[in-house]
Amino acid sequence: MDRCPICRNRAPAAECSRCGADLSSLLRLEQQAQRLVESGITLLRLRHYEGALQLLSSALRQQYHPLTEKLAAMAGEAQLKAAIAAMLRQDWAEAKRSTESLLRWGPREAQDQLLAEQLAGFIEQQRRLRS
Ligand SMILES: [Zn+2]
Repeated sequence: MDRCPICRNRAPAAECSRCGADLSSLLRLEQQAQRLVESGITLLRLRHYEGALQLLSSALRQQYHPLTEKLAAMAGEAQLKAAIAAMLRQDWAEAKRSTESLLRWGPREAQDQLLAEQLAGFIEQQRRLRS
């Protein structure tokens, strides 16, 4: 955290040197979010998009940061591509699984969410046609 949320003091420690506020739990949350982001980046590098999306979404819930949001969107986009690729090779079980995880952890962009919902509908329709 750049500033104390109470008195706006710069770079506060666990106890703010100006107003004395106990910021230890806030700092802990911030460190937790940072660890989630780092693990999310590692999973992105390993192309484990589903796990990356899960970790980055958790990090965003703990602490919003525009870069984390971009990384989550990146993981979401890669996951969407994986779902479409599975659909194209008619691997409906995999397509359904990837799309469901996207819907659960989905990117915040409404358009991607809508696309994922449409995909889920299409996959269900294909599965019904084939069973
Ligand atoms: Zn303060």
